[in-house]
Amino acid sequence: MHMEIAYYLAGPFRELVTMQALPLKGALKDSALRIIRNGGILWKEGWIEAVDDFETLASRPGVTVMEQMIKGVVLPGFIDMHTHLAFGGSRAADFALRNSGSTYLEIAESGGGIWSTVKATRALTIEALAALTAQRANALLQQGVTTIEVKSGYGLSVAEELKCLRAIAEARRITGASLVATCLAAHMLPADFNGSVAAYLELMVNELLPVIKEEQLARRVDAFIERSAFSAAQILPYFKSAKAMGFDITVHADQFTPSGTEVAITVGARSADHLEHSTDKEIALLAHADVAAVALPGASMGLGCKFAPVRKLLDAGCSVAIATDWNPGSAPMGNLMLQASVLASFEKLTNAEVLAAITYRAAAALGFKDRGVLAPGYRADFIVYDADSYQEIPYQQGRLQPAQVWKSGARIV
Ligand SMILES: [Zn+2]
Repeated sequence: MHMEIAYYLAGPFRELVTMQALPLKGALKDSALRIIRNGGILWKEGWIEAVDDFETLASRPGVTVMEQMIKGVVLPGFIDMHTHLAFGGSRAADFALRNSGSTYLEIAESGGGIWSTVKATRALTIEALAALTAQRANALLQQGVTTIEVKSGYGLSVAEELKCLRAIAEARRITGASLVATCLAAHMLPADFNGSVAAYLELMVNELLPVIKEEQLARRVDAFIERSAFSAAQILPYFKSAKAMGFDITVHADQFTPSGTEVAITVGARSADHLEHSTDKEIALLAHADVAAVALPGASMGLGCKFAPVRKLLDAGCSVAIATDWNPGSAPMGNLMLQASVLASFEKLTNAEVLAAITYRAAAALGFKDRGVLAPGYRADFIVYDADSYQEIPYQQGRLQPAQVWKSGARIV
């Protein structure tokens, strides 16, 4: 018997916000959004075949219409392109100390800071770390986030970084979300490393990155360029080695001081993330480079610091993505829409700019060409809100959650 490939159709939807045919860089007006009313999504084997008027699609032969759809607002699955979900322990004590006026140094001296998370993460088995990572990924999935970047960086030795990355690989088998792993062995110089910064980074290049490559544990390498972590001059040779091995580069840049963006541009990084202290100089550099500018409002909210200058970045012509930076120290919230919409209020971002920053612009910053847009040839990753208009989603500042989440054509929430 000849087997037909099954076509599935979802809809009709009140508003189908496709995010199609929008520019990768620069400011966006809401009027540029292509919204199909009474639209449908047709797919086969997890990939979108057509996005069009529902009735037109339903009249095609051999189409199975999905049952129990709600007539709401549909968007591409969101993408959180910068997180640190693979961690153990809690930094609630740091938060309390910081809000009581303690300095960074006092918190570190009281046993807090990144190093305390390293100790708590090292104490976990791979299975326990994988379970925690998957649990946090599933919390994002409930919010409609179908693709999540996850960094290592709380291992900080060859063996412990490998454990973190293997735990992320294991978490991928537990959660329904796509997980994109990034090696952040250059998070800080570990307190127990007996040697110089250069010796530590050399060790990572010689002993860690080749294993990551061989086991395909990550295709991205990140570093924290800041006074408290690594200098631009220290990181440049590390990034050059990683790039020569075929890794994509991304940078924690300009969080507390303008440092990092220039390195990101020099090495041709995919993105420069944070940017709270970027000046007009860094903004102009980013606007003229193929390096995405990534805002992490959750870190500003967690630390009580200013937001990245996103309005300026967009007006200068940058491609801006927004991510949660979910981590135990500075950004424990992990709520992408809440953070993006609060940032929008402070930075005066249009709904189109907010949605672009967590869909196709975030996908591009991760190097994906198959998600973030609802169009033929893309993955059938989409989310359905029980709402009258897409405007309700940023407006409700994270309170409105998707009623359904679909990944590669299968309903997972
Ligand atoms: Zn981060």
